Amino acid sequence: MTKEKKEDKPKKAKRSPKTPTLLRGFSDILPDVSPYWREVRNVAEKILDDYGYKEIVVPILEQTNLFKRTIGEHTDIVSKEMFTFEDRGGDSVTMRPEITGGIARSYITHGMFNRAQPVKLYSFGPVFRYDRPQAGRFRQFNQLSIEIFGDIGPVADSEIIFLSYLICKQLGLNVMIQINSLGDTESREEYISILKEFYRSKRRLLCDDCKKRITKNTLRLLDCKEESCRELAKEAPQLIDHLDEESKEHFVSVLEHLDESEVPYELNPYIVRGLDYYNRTAFEIVPATEDDESEGELQKSAQEIGGGGRYDGLVEIIGGRETSAVGVAFGLERVVDLLQKSNKQLRTTRKPEVFLAQLGEEATKHSFRLFEVLRNSGIDVRANFSKDGLKQQLEIADKMGVVFTVILGQKELLDETVIIRDMENGIQEVVDLAKISDELKKRLKKER
Ligand code: AMP
Repeated sequence: MTKEKKEDKPKKAKRSPKTPTLLRGFSDILPDVSPYWREVRNVAEKILDDYGYKEIVVPILEQTNLFKRTIGEHTDIVSKEMFTFEDRGGDSVTMRPEITGGIARSYITHGMFNRAQPVKLYSFGPVFRYDRPQAGRFRQFNQLSIEIFGDIGPVADSEIIFLSYLICKQLGLNVMIQINSLGDTESREEYISILKEFYRSKRRLLCDDCKKRITKNTLRLLDCKEESCRELAKEAPQLIDHLDEESKEHFVSVLEHLDESEVPYELNPYIVRGLDYYNRTAFEIVPATEDDESEGELQKSAQEIGGGGRYDGLVEIIGGRETSAVGVAFGLERVVDLLQKSNKQLRTTRKPEVFLAQLGEEATKHSFRLFEVLRNSGIDVRANFSKDGLKQQLEIADKMGVVFTVILGQKELLDETVIIRDMENGIQEVVDLAKISDELKKRLKKER
């Protein structure tokens, strides 16, 4: 075998069986992608802080019962996707498949109904679902969950949708809201029996999963992605025609608010969400794609980046007081993916202004201090303390695209001076060490 051929062999064959690999459906967030995560977090946090939301962090592990009761025993998530195990004390525990259940539990645990209502919360963190891994679908992924507890009015629904849209807009993402209303429990039950009736006679046309869904998870028949099921869903009776009067009024009011705040939305009767606890408003946030013929028209097959709605029964289901609630969960891997594709220049990846180069042992010892002086005076400075050759450091500085390099060598240290090198023309100037920040700031201002 030639050398070249050897190198062509897939890496897998060479890897020792003892080398641990990444679990299927799990991923590492590498340093070149993490600035995008930070950007999403920064943008979302600023908006949520401004609108009076407070951060909450709840455990990853909760009693299994919490998710069974909130999400629903017959949903896909609970029946086949949970990471559930017995802990050493013999209790059944589950790694959260979403964050809302834990927040609702915390709302009860800490008596948050005694605080001024509404209580507005948000939380970032990982969730776990034993899903079939594919593009945009992982077994560990991250969500941003935003919730309002204790506000039954349509303005709360609109606020959640408006803020979801605002976060995307500020990130430079072109999205659209798809929205539906699921009515109250009674009108939903009534509609579900009408839907069951419709699907029973067409059972043989459904995919295997949907055949099972007819009795226990009927609404999900409407958002199955299989072609044959999608065709059937088009003929199915629509929930919107069976809404109770109050839900209808609520829905109209939500839409009016959205019109007023210029949030782009589209009514979509197939949005039912995969969790049992929703009532009234249900929505998804999907990437909008513009094509030549139909400007701004939505691509139906696009994966949603977030979804939410109203869940007035949730707190009560797990033993709390009757509490209205509405919220949204973003899938952050999908948001980050969209952000990366949008080629947006991130604030966190902007070019630094100054590079600090140090020559020799004594100068290196002093360089942390000088670095702090520059950093504390608001200069965007970088260094590489493990290199001490000037040529190498200038190359690094050049690659970073800084405007000036500050050079601190043995001689300068003794003289209490430093050299400022203009990276564009290579001109160097000696200045007093004590005045370095002011000198740099003066020069940087001129450059801008
Ligand atoms: P859900 O909690 O099912 O309403 O999902 C909320 C959001 O989480 C979705 O809109 C997706 O963006 C994201 N999401 C759901 N399942 C996955 C998954 N398996 N992998 C990555 N993101 C997901």
